[in-house]
Amino acid sequence: MWDQIFSSRMSRMTASEIRELLKLLDQPDIISFAGGIPDPKLFPIAAFQDAFAETLGPDTQNEALQYSASEGYPPLRDWIAAQMEKLGIPCTRDNILITSGSQQALDYLGKLFLSPNDTALVSWPTYLGALGAFNAYEPHYDRLMPHANRTPADYAARAADKGGKVKFAYASVDFANPTGETIDRAGRESLLDLADDLNIAVIEDAAYQSLRYDGDAIPPVLALEIARKGSIEDCRTIYCGSFSKTLSPGLRVGWVCAAKPVISRLVLMKQAADLHSATINQIAITKVAKACFDDHVSNLRDAYKKRRDYMLDALLKHMPDGVTWTQPEGGMFIWLTLPEYMDGATMLAKSLETQRVAFVPGRAFHADGSCGNTIRLNFSLPDEATIEEGIKRLGALLRG
Ligand code: PMP
Repeated sequence: MWDQIFSSRMSRMTASEIRELLKLLDQPDIISFAGGIPDPKLFPIAAFQDAFAETLGPDTQNEALQYSASEGYPPLRDWIAAQMEKLGIPCTRDNILITSGSQQALDYLGKLFLSPNDTALVSWPTYLGALGAFNAYEPHYDRLMPHANRTPADYAARAADKGGKVKFAYASVDFANPTGETIDRAGRESLLDLADDLNIAVIEDAAYQSLRYDGDAIPPVLALEIARKGSIEDCRTIYCGSFSKTLSPGLRVGWVCAAKPVISRLVLMKQAADLHSATINQIAITKVAKACFDDHVSNLRDAYKKRRDYMLDALLKHMPDGVTWTQPEGGMFIWLTLPEYMDGATMLAKSLETQRVAFVPGRAFHADGSCGNTIRLNFSLPDEATIEEGIKRLGALLRG
């Protein structure tokens, strides 16, 4: 009965088999590199305790428990605008919308741009949650290859064959989920060239931007575009930021920074969807960000850098010939390419049975379901001893 009355978009919204499998992973003897989450031991708990106590303390005006503006809490938008300016993105609070995590921004941007059969350009592989958000709007995907030999006309022709237009290019630009790789400055510039030629939007996913452990920072795509065009109001790049990887994912506070015509449409969506993000969470994030953002993120970088180095060393020690991996300069992930005849999902099933080590097979991150011989490893959650033991076991598994 239900299938006849569900909307057509539901046919694209399927549970990932992998996610179902990974749900079974809370047994204590499993070493998991499967998560994509911050280490809860590193949350700034004391700062949040102070922030919530103050917010609900005797001097409160009760505003924290009240409805609030769809655009977001103004002092938080001001704080973010100042941060964006430091990244080379001069803007005002009117260019900022607070969202419930950057995941909500991806959903809204799918809704804003995609009619059924339009095309979204995404990297191969790409963030699974972005594909999940966009799928609801029934797009096709084409492979975004800023350095490769594809002409704008070629992208446009393929999209027309599929019955729509190219609407945006989505890119997780720094230490991407799942590969850990960063798009270099030339890649960002050619992404902007392509977007100008095709007259499409660029969705810049900056979820991991603050978590750089070494190498020089590269200006955000939006900053490079402002350098070309003079003002954010003339830019086609839409920057999606998040406090999830820096302060707390559970409070669900992210933001979009873009030209005002985009922000005003997204505000309409926010009004229709959930009115606004939780007021008290926005106030608490503002207080904690003002009290200790830079110090806290600097501590996080120290801790995660050690774990990344530990995992890279362990891989070097334990991986057999024929396995290669990325060298991320930040973020939370390392991406392994196995010999072509191996399948990540089959290896996961085997690994859970014989080695008790979990990871995420790479196929699901590819919009065309290709590249089954890849896996994603997370290094932000496990401690150093666990990393060593887990990678040793993974090496044994892959050696067969
Ligand atoms: N973008 C990327 C690349 C991510 O990895 C994630 C979370 N895993 C998100 C966006 C969404 O994060 P949040 O909604 O918590 O901001």
